[in-house]
Amino acid sequence: MRCAICGLRVNSTDDAIEDGWTPYFHDGDQEHDPACPSCTETLLQEGADGEWEVKEEYRGKLRYLDEIGDRVWQDHPQVAMLVLGNEPGKLN
Ligand SMILES: [Zn+2]
Repeated sequence: MRCAICGLRVNSTDDAIEDGWTPYFHDGDQEHDPACPSCTETLLQEGADGEWEVKEEYRGKLRYLDEIGDRVWQDHPQVAMLVLGNEPGKLN
């Protein structure tokens, strides 16, 4: 998989978790995944609800490389739990 922001690639989900990747994050109403550690540090912040979001000054200004259909990351049990616990519908 690769970072939705910069396109950095990582070989496996396990490597990504070890390296501190952020499984998903929000830019306004849009959900994106995932983000590498350096993009996380530079562009993301932890929101009041404990979810990662794009810093206000970057919101709506970033381009994303989300690969639709790449569900490998979400197949990981640890991440699937996070994702299922945060269905977009529950946020509205
Ligand atoms: Zn990145």
